[in-house]
Amino acid sequence: AEEKLSFQAEVSRLLDIVANALYSNKEIFLRELVSNASDACDRLRYAAQLQSDLLGDDSDFQITVASDAKAKTLVISDNGIGMNREDLIESLGTIAKSGTAAFVAGLENKEDGANLIGQFGVGFYSSFMVADSVEVLSRKAGDTEGWRWTSDGHGEFTIEECADTPARGTRITLHMKKGQEEFLDPQRLRGIVKTYSDHIAIPVALVGKEKTETLNSASALWTRPKSEISEEQYKEFYHHVGHAFDDPWLRLHFKAEGMIEYSGLLYVPSTKPFDLFHPDRKHGLKLYVRRVFITDDCAELLPSYLRFLRGVIDTEDLPLNISRELLQHNPMLAKIRKALVKRVVGELTKQAKKKPEDYLAFWDNFGAVLKEGLYEDETQRPALLELARFASSLADQPTGLDGYVERMKDGQDAIYYISGESAEALLKSPQLEGFADKGIEVLLLTDSVDEFWLSTVPQYKDLPFKSATRGDIDLGKVKAKDADSSEGKDKDKSDEEAPAEVSALVAFVKLALKDEVKDVRASKRLTSSAVCLVADDGDIDMHLERLLKQHRQLDSSATRILEINPRHSLIKSLAAQVGKDGAAAELEEVARLLLDQARILEGEPLPDPAAFAARLTRQVEGSLKGL
Ligand code: ADP
Ligand code: MG
Repeated sequence: AEEKLSFQAEVSRLLDIVANALYSNKEIFLRELVSNASDACDRLRYAAQLQSDLLGDDSDFQITVASDAKAKTLVISDNGIGMNREDLIESLGTIAKSGTAAFVAGLENKEDGANLIGQFGVGFYSSFMVADSVEVLSRKAGDTEGWRWTSDGHGEFTIEECADTPARGTRITLHMKKGQEEFLDPQRLRGIVKTYSDHIAIPVALVGKEKTETLNSASALWTRPKSEISEEQYKEFYHHVGHAFDDPWLRLHFKAEGMIEYSGLLYVPSTKPFDLFHPDRKHGLKLYVRRVFITDDCAELLPSYLRFLRGVIDTEDLPLNISRELLQHNPMLAKIRKALVKRVVGELTKQAKKKPEDYLAFWDNFGAVLKEGLYEDETQRPALLELARFASSLADQPTGLDGYVERMKDGQDAIYYISGESAEALLKSPQLEGFADKGIEVLLLTDSVDEFWLSTVPQYKDLPFKSATRGDIDLGKVKAKDADSSEGKDKDKSDEEAPAEVSALVAFVKLALKDEVKDVRASKRLTSSAVCLVADDGDIDMHLERLLKQHRQLDSSATRILEINPRHSLIKSLAAQVGKDGAAAELEEVARLLLDQARILEGEPLPDPAAFAARLTRQVEGSLKGL
């Protein structure tokens, strides 16, 4: 009995975009179907290592492509693992990839959608670019019953048991759209397979009336000598193995011999996958043992801070029938992982030196991920610190730490940073005024991971990392921008000692604000703002506290230090009022306003917005009366 089922809403949305043009090169549908067929064969080959009767007497894997110009059909078949009813519904009716559903739901309009989808790829669903209906017949290896899946790509698909399926594997029939007849032409098909699928390690045969010809080299690409692999082939292999649609940014093809033997073909993508930060994303590195695919979900093969890598590792030194569970504690794998990390980090270091501009593009995509290694991997920490790039208060390009150190001022003994949501917002922080005044560079850290590595990495080459919003920053020792030329006549403003009246004001404000602040002091870091908040030396950084609260990992708040600017005219006039008869109430009111102002500047919520509004209103009214 035929069942009608609905596509997951996001799939319908996707199919809508797919069917309405988008890709200029529709021919990639064939690459996708051949790629899936090859994956299916790989998966069966592995399953058969553990359960030998799965292959039966059909142990030669093959993919075939057959066209029928009269019937206007194109048929792609494989004798791979096949799909049962649940597989068909799950794989061809939903979007399994984590985060994809959200991604598709976020595609606002058609035009945008087309562009984004182009980078992201739609796999099986790309068949609907060229076909107005698709039939999938499939029988899972080891099963007796087979299944028929059909759809015209409009909201629904059907599924029913079917006796007429291949003995094993999948046969996909595309009923071509009007105008897509070119894809029935053997010459055209030959060209497409050669272009996109030559690297496929399973033979791809074109079935014709007179003869059947194998179109590809059918040997694992990574085992071929580099000199025999073209750029095109490398690129298409990346698309297949990485389920990716961009061009790779970097490629590493190598063979390690010695204690452990393995070869690898790894790629760094040139665009950022949307699910980079999704915990259960699919399609990691593929692990092969002697050309047999084992898994693409082996967490032990790479540390997660290199999870952007795509490609294959093929080793001679693991047993073929190793189960995925046993991989977990395999010492051989641990050695391969260590060597891979070294190789990849080494290559990135080389790229960063050789092509610094180009490297920034990589950093922009994956820097936030690589930084996780700063706290996860102590051995690589020095190398990763050198690889790191940061936005800076002085440079328009992200800078490395070595560059920062070179530009440090005489007398400067720390690497200063400030962390927050965006570089733009950070640049306006009052806490940076003194730094700007002296021309001292401050790194602007905007990835959430920054707070975490900073709490485990205290320094870079003897220089401590120091937050511009924490502790009692004293820039007095650092020579000002123009200190040499002006011979001290233009003595830096922030170096002046606070006058005595200001000390009295500080004491007064401290008394007035009581427990709301940890301390009040005359600031050495402010030049134009009246006040700011800073964290005490041992206390949690303000930005980190906000982050942790957002993620509900913290519900208490540290009290902060209020710094007031003794050079600010408002502070000076307030200081002049301290001790005068009847001024105390007014001064306290202003002190509270200043504290709330500092909180707003910091992006902290006000504990009592109504009281703030009332005070502000009273003050404005008072000043209007004086007009
Ligand atoms: P991806 O290949 O990136 O997972 P696709 O849309 O190309 O995405 O395919 C979705 C899923 O459908 C595959 O992951 C696989 O489980 C299943 N599938 C597609 N084609 C086949 C096939 N020929 N044999 C077995 N399974 C298949
Ligand atoms: Mg696919």
